[in-house]
Amino acid sequence: MEAASDPTSSSSAVPIDGKNLAFQVRRTVARRVAEGKRRVRLDAVLAGEDKGADIYAHNQRKTCAAVGIEYHLHRLPASASIEEVEDQVRALNEDDDVTAIMVHLPLPEGVEAERVQSLIDEAKDVEGVNPANIGNIVYGRRSLVPCTALASVEMIESTGIELRGKRCVIVGASNIVGKPIAVLLMRAEATVISTNKYTEDLGSLTRTADVLVSAAGVAGLITRDMVKPGAVVVDVGINRVLGANGKRRTVGDVAFEEVAEVAGHLSPVPGGVGPMTVAMLLRNTVEAAGV
Ligand code: NAD
Repeated sequence: MEAASDPTSSSSAVPIDGKNLAFQVRRTVARRVAEGKRRVRLDAVLAGEDKGADIYAHNQRKTCAAVGIEYHLHRLPASASIEEVEDQVRALNEDDDVTAIMVHLPLPEGVEAERVQSLIDEAKDVEGVNPANIGNIVYGRRSLVPCTALASVEMIESTGIELRGKRCVIVGASNIVGKPIAVLLMRAEATVISTNKYTEDLGSLTRTADVLVSAAGVAGLITRDMVKPGAVVVDVGINRVLGANGKRRTVGDVAFEEVAEVAGHLSPVPGGVGPMTVAMLLRNTVEAAGV
């Protein structure tokens, strides 16, 4: 009984439950698909033999089926040239039955991802990887925003925090994760600080953050002393580390146990941004189909 009332004995942060939020998004997506006047389909291009991409495509087929989205996978051999991959994307762009397109990474040696991504019709680009869609974020269009960035911001908003005027620190500044998150938060009129691996004394900045998002890909980067008490903390990182039992496990960038003792809200890994990212892809897919 005493242990339960001891403030130092248990974590205080409210979990930001990505699985539950994702479930709600999927339910709305399924309803939109069912009530929509047109078929919704997602066409994915997978070039090469990458095992991770194979698993991702397999899961994607199941996830799409569960909400009524048709899924078509277009496989190309590992020997595919950039022209062949581009021709495949062009064919999907031109096919009026195709409402959504994504290209699995990694692409084969010599096939430059950015070149392929910029070819995807921006109205069908449900991962939001075409530079045009990344640029659209600046103007406040939220539909085809990169899925992980959208997932992160929806998770922050799910806590009920009023972002206007709040201080947000984003750790990591890649083109499809850190930077779009920063821009979305700027759109919400927050005060945004973008940091990267060259940032000096990261802790002096993160400690001032009402909202802290870590998307660096460095296990254990965010420790308790770097977090302002009560802050909303979203962990985007996915890192594979060796556990005490000698088995590999997935962790984020945030030292979860200790940060949970000071943060107000904290997203776990796994079960946080990951499932919400998948849900955002589905939502972008129905948006692209206009249903
Ligand atoms: P990236 O390697 O392209 O970019 C990493 C960014 O973090 C860079 O801007 C780099 O300067 C910065 N960084 C690295 N070390 C740092 C440090 N010590 N301090 C401050 N900044 C540092 O990675 P990415 O594609 O943006 O992905 C970031 C992380 O998010 C990875 O762990 C990735 O696996 C994960 N991710 C998760 C999802 C998801 O669905 N949950 C989706 C995409 C990426």
